[in-house]
Amino acid sequence: MTARLVLALGLLICCGAEPRQDGLAALIAELPDPGYPVELVRVRGMADWADSIWDDERETFVVRVRAGIPHEFAVDSLVHEWGHLLVWDACQESPHDDLWAVAYGRCYRKVIEE
Ligand SMILES: [Zn+2]
Repeated sequence: MTARLVLALGLLICCGAEPRQDGLAALIAELPDPGYPVELVRVRGMADWADSIWDDERETFVVRVRAGIPHEFAVDSLVHEWGHLLVWDACQESPHDDLWAVAYGRCYRKVIEE
């Protein structure tokens, strides 16, 4: 059973002036299951390209990607954040350690064509 959830509302937020989906939702289907639902949202005006948070009340990961960035950057950001989701508990103290790097690599290989 997959534990993924991509809310349509999040994708609508991302579209804004660009009335199309950006393909990130399709990429998610290729990524390893992090074990909990994931909500993908586009956020205007974020300082970073992306981040991830854990919504304890809904037991859901929320990946936030800055709206308006080029598709390639959004893909890279999503893959980076998905690596965090896969090792969430183990890497809270050092979020970009070797364990995360391996998880990131697993995600990268799923979505980047050789
Ligand atoms: Zn990171």
